[in-house]
Amino acid sequence: MTKATDTNKSWEFARLAFSSMERHCLKPSANAFAVWLAYHAKDYPVLCEDIDAALMQGKEIDDYLCDSLFEIHIESGIISDRLINAGGSFESKMHGVLKDIENVRDDAKSFKVKLTSAKEELVRNPEIENVKNVVGDLSDATDQMVVSSSTLEKRIAQSRDEIAALKLELEEARMEASKDALTGVANRKTFNNFIKDNAYRCDKNSQPLSIIMADIDYFKKINDRWGHQTGDQVICYVAGVLSRETPIGGLVARLGGEEFAIVAPNIASEKAHEIAERIRKQVEKKKLIRRNSKEDLGQITISNGVAQLETNEAVADLIDRADQALYTSKNEGRNRTTMAVAAISKAA
Ligand code: GH3
Ligand code: MG
Ligand code: MG
Repeated sequence: MTKATDTNKSWEFARLAFSSMERHCLKPSANAFAVWLAYHAKDYPVLCEDIDAALMQGKEIDDYLCDSLFEIHIESGIISDRLINAGGSFESKMHGVLKDIENVRDDAKSFKVKLTSAKEELVRNPEIENVKNVVGDLSDATDQMVVSSSTLEKRIAQSRDEIAALKLELEEARMEASKDALTGVANRKTFNNFIKDNAYRCDKNSQPLSIIMADIDYFKKINDRWGHQTGDQVICYVAGVLSRETPIGGLVARLGGEEFAIVAPNIASEKAHEIAERIRKQVEKKKLIRRNSKEDLGQITISNGVAQLETNEAVADLIDRADQALYTSKNEGRNRTTMAVAAISKAA
């Protein structure tokens, strides 16, 4: 697609977003704009499903619902100041464009009033002199309309480049804010949003969803013996193995310290167990050498817990079951993978 068609498309989505906001009587806020822009551009499939479901049920899409849709689907990772600033500029830019549109609308209204009174004036006094005067007035009014609409056109063209740059900045900040700074894998916030969205989708489509919790064994000893910097390198190494083994459509996140999670949509627990074991064996087999002194770090191992989402199970309960399975792996000697206990038997 060329840059011009790409820009035209983006503007078409922006126009559709404005008209949806107007139709639902929403305040011109950055959140509402982002939600409707994402909806029309089909950027977030789950967000689109939520809006379509609300529309089908005749629910009112008000400012509160828009804010919550924004928080659930779009805000993931939006925490940096850069992003907040960019959002603010976007809001004020949008405000400016809306104000310009309003001004032109006012000019068009007074132009219509002038046309109506000119018509009445001509009916009342069709003398040639009067006709000349009326036409003169109308010509001035038309010139004024041309000036105000071409000013609007210029302002919109000017805003277009600024909004495109802002969009790029927003995208960069969003990417940055969604990642763990040390390893580059997803952070906890991204994990939370991803698992929530995908658990909802998989449950709705009767597809399985599994998670693998992984934790490096005796990591404190590695830190104590080799220092924090080497400890960080071990964390990065394990993150790399997990990333390579994460199935397509899945997500690997660092939940904190030396603890990781893989979310695997459309994958049942047996397959997730296989993946976890493959990861565990790779880490166990790897001979890690300290970068500066070339000393052998000794065997590094990880413990895993695997769980599959059950029907009507809350995401927090799924995470809890996987965590308990990981805890069992630790208690039973570490360097192993444990399958979580089924939620039903856990409750019994
Ligand atoms: P277990 O086998 O039971 O998991 O034992 P462990 O020693 O791995 O677990 P523990 O929770 O006792 O210690 C984890 C240590 O990880 C404590 C903390 O200082 C260290 N740690 C947490 N975050 C980081 C980090 O970003 N870098 C480094 N190098 N160490 C970290
Ligand atoms: Mg540990
Ligand atoms: Mg730990």
